[in-house]
Amino acid sequence: MLNSLRSIVQEVNSARDLTSALRIIVSSVKSAMRTQVCSVYLVDQAGDYVLMATDGLNTDAVGKVRLHPGEGLVGRVVVREEPINLEHAEAHPSYQYFPETGEERYRSFLGVPIIHHRKVLGVLVVQQIEQRRFDEGDESFLVTMSAQLAGVIAHAEATGGIKDIGQKAVQARFLGSPGSSGVAIGEAVVIAPEADLRSVPFKPYVDLEAEIAFFQRCLMAVREDIKALGAKLKDRLNREERALFDAYLSMLDDASLGGEVTERIRKGANASYAWSEVILEHEATFNSMDDAYLRERATDLRDLGRRVLAYLLESNKKGRVYPERAILVGEELTATMLGEIPPEKLVGLVSVEGSSNSHVAILARAMGIPTVMGVVDLPYLQLDGRPLIVDGYRGSVYCDPDELVVKHYKAIAVEDLALVKGLEALKDLPCETTDNYRLTLWVNTGLMADVVRSLERGAEGVGLYRTEIPFLMRDRFPSEEEQRIIYREQLAAFAPNPVTIRTLDIGGDKALPYFPIEEANPFLGWRGIRVTLDHPEIFLAQVRAMIKASEGLDNLRILLPMITSVPELDASKALITRVFNELIEEGYKVLMPPVGVMIEVPAAVYQTRELAARSGFLSVGSNDLTQYLLAVDRNNARVADLYQAFHPAVLRALQHIVTEAHAEGVSVSICGELAGDPSAAILLMAMGFDVLSMSAANLPKVKSVIRGISLSLAKALLAEVIVMADADQIRERIEQFLGDADVTRLIRPVVSDDFEE
Ligand code: PEP
Ligand code: MG
Repeated sequence: MLNSLRSIVQEVNSARDLTSALRIIVSSVKSAMRTQVCSVYLVDQAGDYVLMATDGLNTDAVGKVRLHPGEGLVGRVVVREEPINLEHAEAHPSYQYFPETGEERYRSFLGVPIIHHRKVLGVLVVQQIEQRRFDEGDESFLVTMSAQLAGVIAHAEATGGIKDIGQKAVQARFLGSPGSSGVAIGEAVVIAPEADLRSVPFKPYVDLEAEIAFFQRCLMAVREDIKALGAKLKDRLNREERALFDAYLSMLDDASLGGEVTERIRKGANASYAWSEVILEHEATFNSMDDAYLRERATDLRDLGRRVLAYLLESNKKGRVYPERAILVGEELTATMLGEIPPEKLVGLVSVEGSSNSHVAILARAMGIPTVMGVVDLPYLQLDGRPLIVDGYRGSVYCDPDELVVKHYKAIAVEDLALVKGLEALKDLPCETTDNYRLTLWVNTGLMADVVRSLERGAEGVGLYRTEIPFLMRDRFPSEEEQRIIYREQLAAFAPNPVTIRTLDIGGDKALPYFPIEEANPFLGWRGIRVTLDHPEIFLAQVRAMIKASEGLDNLRILLPMITSVPELDASKALITRVFNELIEEGYKVLMPPVGVMIEVPAAVYQTRELAARSGFLSVGSNDLTQYLLAVDRNNARVADLYQAFHPAVLRALQHIVTEAHAEGVSVSICGELAGDPSAAILLMAMGFDVLSMSAANLPKVKSVIRGISLSLAKALLAEVIVMADADQIRERIEQFLGDADVTRLIRPVVSDDFEE
């Protein structure tokens, strides 16, 4: 059973569209269960469950038979959200007869719901003429099948709207999580991982003959490579092995793969897309063969496929001209990918994987680029060159938007511009409430561009400088002197205001290309201070560079990430003190910088007192703290809606940290993304945080909200929400508060959006 399950799911996964996926499902489930009918019903826009595919019933009934939830046996499966297994279906009170299906002949019925993200997408049904008791094994098989297929069906349904390349485009909307607020209207530029046959974007070509000639040139280049490789290995291979090279060469011929691909190019696909399609199809055929020797040939084919693809993509990249308003789209965007497009052309970002707490989203916010993360159903490979709209406020992406939608988003963009202009006036005004409470706002930095932006927006200091960003942009660790220069720039730009430099925080979703960390659970693994304490040479060089850079400026504060215990803090401080003493001995005129601890794991929350007693300051990393308190991977799109910044447990932990730190007489800031959310900033101020540190893009908004309210009202709001039991209720109450204070526009557009429904 397991084998048939696996092979059915695999086959369905490779189906090109929903119709063929459903066809594969009904015929293979029918044969695997040795039954006479298998059908799939799917919910339509109106909420009815419609027969979409069948093997066994009259196919004319497809699209015609429809049931409301609760109606008939299928409708009953929907409302009960569990299987119904009947030996005598017609004896059941819910049994309903549809003459067009020819169904009266079937006695036994087993129907299981197809559920995706708690929604019943459809029902998978098997039936039998003779009375048959589908046993427990049958039922579990169908339930397993349905659970596996739910995601595939949801994906195929979501992508269905834009599958038909070359035909008239139809607007399609995809949902993800808001990554960075704002809207972008532009053209998709799809970034695919290097030479991955499964992620080659479709892109229409301009000139058929030129595309074919380009393909032939790439084939020729690979032929030459293979010949050269064969010649090099000539003496080390036997005759049979040498024959493999000839086999490779002949596969590239026009009579073989070359010809097939050319044929597809003629039908409209670009060379790299056509090539990958042909290779993947042949690979699947080889893979399904029983003969082990033939299955092995799939590996050769894949190898050949990658070789040719590398040429096809490389040549594509060289000549690539980016549109004026480029929206970068990729399966898993990374910080380095952002550098692929000239900054003046990059207007938006869309990532299929990840969530609003992924580091690439944080970077996007710092750069002020509207971003949507975790758009899991986005058929991103089909999007290159197509018009897109990124709604970073709500986390949606429109492909081929219609005029009405474009008009709507243009209006929001105009409003956004006016908002930014209006906020510029706040630059030199203090961040002060209406009852004269002064709150300190600092910025988070990492990119050099952040410095200029932060100074323009009136930042009073740096609460978090993420040093991993300059580390990410290189192909080796930066030397001590290279680091000193970078840190000096930061410190000098903000002097005499304080600059908090965090020691290297890699691991989790931040991997250095030259120092890979492969782990099953990277967020629970070798991260932050754990890595640098294990590699004192990296830590010592970094701290030396920081302290040297502070000479004469004396505005450095050092921050330690991911501290989970007092010994980790003590060990880090010992290394920092050692560096300081050595530098003094070497004659540097430097001061010992305050050393602070990031409170970002629950263990640190419960040791706030002890950690505060041993450090100069504390800074809460609410991004990680939320993920660890709620046990929700900050990078996982599937659980993104469980990552609730206003979860009562998070708010209470934050309040606890402030109270404990203050009891120890130590100041406490917060540098997670929560600090830059104007609606959260009100609560954080009321809790007593001494400093809020955020991306420069958010600073004016937070300042504006704080200047519009009083501390006493903020405290009253906090007292009200901190005892609430549910995050949604808390968010609603805060929204209402912002509405009353007339500052809703600072968190989202207020233009009406009736066009969607
Ligand atoms: C945090 O975890 O809140 C934080 C500021 O650090 P980072 O987002 O870089 O992990
Ligand atoms: Mg963190």
